[in-house]
Amino acid sequence: MTERYDAIVIGVGQAAPALCARLDKEGLKTAVIERKLLGGTCVNTGCIPTKTLIASAHAAHLARRGGDYGFDPGRVRMDMKAVKRRKDHVVRQSVDALKKWLGGMKNVTLMHGQAKFTAPRRVAVNGHELEAERVFINVGARAAVPDLPGVKEVPFYTNSSIMKVDFTPPHLVIVGGSYIGLEFAQMYRRFGSEVTIVERLPKLLPREDDDVAAEIGAIIKREGIHIRTDAECMALKRKGKQIAVTLECKHGKPIAQGTHVLLAVGRTPNTGDLGLREAGIQADERGYIKVDDECCTSAAGVWALGECNGKGAFTHTSYNDYEIVAANLFDGDKRRISDRIQTYALFIDPPLGRAGMSEAEAKKSGRRVLVGKRPMTRVGRAREAGETQGFMKVLVDAESSELLGAAILGLSGDEVVHSLLDMMYAKRPYTTIQRAMHIHPTVTELVPTMLGELKPL
Ligand SMILES: Cc1cc2nc3c(=O)[nH]c(=O)nc-3n(C[C@H](O)[C@H](O)[C@H](O)COP(=O)(O)OP(=O)(O)OC[C@H]3O[C@@H](n4cnc5c(N)ncnc54)[C@H](O)[C@@H]3O)c2cc1C
Repeated sequence: MTERYDAIVIGVGQAAPALCARLDKEGLKTAVIERKLLGGTCVNTGCIPTKTLIASAHAAHLARRGGDYGFDPGRVRMDMKAVKRRKDHVVRQSVDALKKWLGGMKNVTLMHGQAKFTAPRRVAVNGHELEAERVFINVGARAAVPDLPGVKEVPFYTNSSIMKVDFTPPHLVIVGGSYIGLEFAQMYRRFGSEVTIVERLPKLLPREDDDVAAEIGAIIKREGIHIRTDAECMALKRKGKQIAVTLECKHGKPIAQGTHVLLAVGRTPNTGDLGLREAGIQADERGYIKVDDECCTSAAGVWALGECNGKGAFTHTSYNDYEIVAANLFDGDKRRISDRIQTYALFIDPPLGRAGMSEAEAKKSGRRVLVGKRPMTRVGRAREAGETQGFMKVLVDAESSELLGAAILGLSGDEVVHSLLDMMYAKRPYTTIQRAMHIHPTVTELVPTMLGELKPL
């Protein structure tokens, strides 16, 4: 027998809880189905645990730098079991809060199991069939496992399985020099591991401007992390008790050898086993569900939110999808995906906060562009804190004076960038920032000074 609902939500990722709360408020009888862990990637194996582990790594790093600040830290030794306990505790708090939140919704029933479409707006779970006028897909993505030679023969970690680690790997080889790989690289280096990053492309962070990627490379190297780029022909094999990643690089030894390997080479959407064909939902060749500007799929009454729609790979893009769907469905507010400005952070130390266009994108847009840049060595707050690595960079449209993009690589860069992001969203000229009074001493107070020194790009 088919159970009837007003709405079905598949997957409890970063859009689903708030969406369920809204459906509940609208009085809609809703079934929400999760096959594994409430809170999905961000809560269990992504943002929350990594930022918690990074906090432990940062504390140890700062303690080791005691001499820079006038104290003798003695020998700093990690207790990795305690580090993991702390991480598990913070994750558990978030999962428990979600459980309580969802459990308190009168019209929402939480089901555990694998959901699969059997027909348009009909979903099978645990041998039951559910049907609803509206179905919302929030199934996210998982770590991609590339088809490298040897990958089936050697053990490796992904961002999920490494969450169980409660020891310091003697030498961690990280395959992938992008956001996830770099965060783990610096974290494990600070936990005491030898770390080698292996990247197929000629530079780290291929999407970032060359100056940003080069400075990040220098920051990482200063901590003793080995970087091997141009690793075009990667393969994994056992070498005694060690694991070797063969690289066939253009330069240097053609092998990187370590005790453990982490694969951090991108994501695969969780759509292969969702029954998209049965539901008449179109996906692209990589499995990302095709959506329009309001997250509607090709099937009437079905929406896709979060990473599975290929429009963003962050918690904030997933949550923003929820806001767009709710605004259009219930508030008569025509919010659009195309209205958002790309923004994200790389949570290494110091962090990179990014908003809007890169230099390359600004050039490509055909505009006349002005650029302002300031090294963190010329930011008082950074000097006082003893954190002078990095720089701030801002891009401005020379005709309209609107801000086009920003890269804040330095102390609190992940926070500072919001002052530029909000101004971009408001479409105000950059001169507005220069008229506001800012707090001293902060990193942000130097943004107007940087804007006073713009030069043609
Ligand atoms: C190591 C790491 C660090 C990250 N750090 C950050 C960060 O600092 N900031 C940031 O913004 N982003 C970060 N991200 C990215 C972020 O975690 C993801 O973009 C975000 O979690 C995607 O959310 P989502 O809503 O698409 O779904 P997810 O969070 O992936 O959740 C999807 C849920 O759906 C469930 N599901 C899947 N298929 C089915 C099915 N058939 N039936 C039932 N349930 C199903 C899954 O079990 C999962 O619980 C990080 C990612 C990683 C891997």
